[in-house]
Amino acid sequence: SKIEEKLFQDRYRVDSGRPHIRIKDPDHCTECLEKQCTVCCPAGCYTRETNGKVTLVTDGCLECGTCRIICQESGNLEWEWPRGGFGILFKFG
Ligand code: SF4
Repeated sequence: SKIEEKLFQDRYRVDSGRPHIRIKDPDHCTECLEKQCTVCCPAGCYTRETNGKVTLVTDGCLECGTCRIICQESGNLEWEWPRGGFGILFKFG
């Protein structure tokens, strides 16, 4: 798919120990029935766990903002842009 091609071409710089997106209250995720983040994130950053919680690994995040919109109502995501020089490094041309 187009996204996979992009993921393959783009490089990602991990800001170790400073994820730019954070789940504020992991317990709140157990009450979220849809857990749309686990299916809508194009980079597969969110994993639905058997205990009802959601694991978030921001490595590879495309900064598309989908999860931010999905989770807006619950307010359970802290979403920042990565610091300069970190995150997805888009290649043009
Ligand atoms: Fe996934 Fe987009 Fe959220 Fe990054 S911003 S974690 S790519 S949904």
